[in-house]
Amino acid sequence: MARIFCIANQKGGVGKTTTSVNLAAALAAAGQRVLLVDLDPQGNATMGSGINKQGLEKSVYHVLVGLAPLAEARVGSEAGRYDLLPANRDLAGAEIDLVELPRRENRLRDAIKAVVADYDFILIDCPPSLSLLTLNGLCSAHGVIIPMQCEYYALEGLSDLVNTIKKVHANLNRDLKIIGLLRVMFDPRMTLQQQVSAQLESHFGDKVFKAIVPRNVRLAEAPSHGLPGVVFDKAAKGAQAYLAFAKEMIERVQTL
Ligand code: ADP
Ligand code: MG
Repeated sequence: MARIFCIANQKGGVGKTTTSVNLAAALAAAGQRVLLVDLDPQGNATMGSGINKQGLEKSVYHVLVGLAPLAEARVGSEAGRYDLLPANRDLAGAEIDLVELPRRENRLRDAIKAVVADYDFILIDCPPSLSLLTLNGLCSAHGVIIPMQCEYYALEGLSDLVNTIKKVHANLNRDLKIIGLLRVMFDPRMTLQQQVSAQLESHFGDKVFKAIVPRNVRLAEAPSHGLPGVVFDKAAKGAQAYLAFAKEMIERVQTL
């Protein structure tokens, strides 16, 4: 039975998609069976997995509104060696369609049930909002992985997300917990980043992952080649950090 994790943070550009794609590929490289769900209409996780978002016959949109079962919409990412439930701009309309459907927060959860036995990990790349799409992600998951940059304002945004997760836990999904905070785009030369990083550790303790992803241009270049960073340049520091993070996740799920 798969363990299901959302990669969430309501801010854009904080490294959600980079984390989703690279964790998926790193887990797959470690022999895990992985499904990555792209839940963002921007379709960046889809493109970053080497799948053309324009040419999709079916996508996560069709699954959410009930036009296709998940098994018919998923595709194999050859680049990452995992399965992908892809997304494109069709998903932008889902928000409105979903409002009128029954179990609107649970559409993804219900769809995933049919494939949980096929995977060890299901990762959900959330959009940069606390919308009905993100709610579908949070209602499907056992836990949330929060990528964050060690900047002053990151801590402010974090409290909104933590409150949302608490509400979802209380009202919609008793399984949901915060698995951990992942420091990304880290630059150890910046004193402020070191301070915020230390603050995170003292406040959140072992909820802060040991792996730290540095700012690394190879991770940013990889999507334009349709490859996860850990495949594009495995030796690069950013890739090595995601490979270490995958090991940490494999260890951590044993304790859940
Ligand atoms: P989000 O999904 O939260 O919007 P992305 O993963 O798309 O964020 O990252 C935003 C931008 O930052 C992208 O251009 C991505 O390539 C770049 N990026 C992400 N992580 C790193 C990193 N560790 N080092 C350098 N660039 C990064
Ligand atoms: Mg993204």
